[in-house]
Amino acid sequence: MNKEPDCIFCSIIAGDIPSTEVATSEHAYAFRDLHPAAPSHIVVVPKRHHPNVNELSHTDPELTGHVVALAAEAATKDGLDADGWRLLTNTGEHAGQTVQHVHFHVLGGERLGPLNAPRN
Ligand code: AMP
Ligand code: ZN
Repeated sequence: MNKEPDCIFCSIIAGDIPSTEVATSEHAYAFRDLHPAAPSHIVVVPKRHHPNVNELSHTDPELTGHVVALAAEAATKDGLDADGWRLLTNTGEHAGQTVQHVHFHVLGGERLGPLNAPRN
């Protein structure tokens, strides 16, 4: 794996920073968010470092599929399928991306609010 120095998610994948596993595969890892924004809040990452979904999807579309599939598996494991769940990824400053290792959020366990307030 191409571990990026100073990347917190690379350190989690390497086991250097503890995390709570929800699901794992050869290519991706799903773990509990440290500051959950919903009763179930799972972070899903490719094990290989990519900065964001734009770069990931262009350089490795197959891996993009693996990560989304693990997100679905993690949601199922957390019992979210009956009532539904949300998958989202933040890219760049306007979206508020704080960790520069691409990650998808799985959110569920309660009725979720709108993504954004309507603009008009
Ligand atoms: P974003 O704001 O989309 O970049 O999401 C980054 C997410 O990573 C936030 O929801 C953080 O709570 C979460 N996070 C940061 N550090 C850790 C950690 N050590 N373990 C689990 N989740 C983390
Ligand atoms: Zn990384």
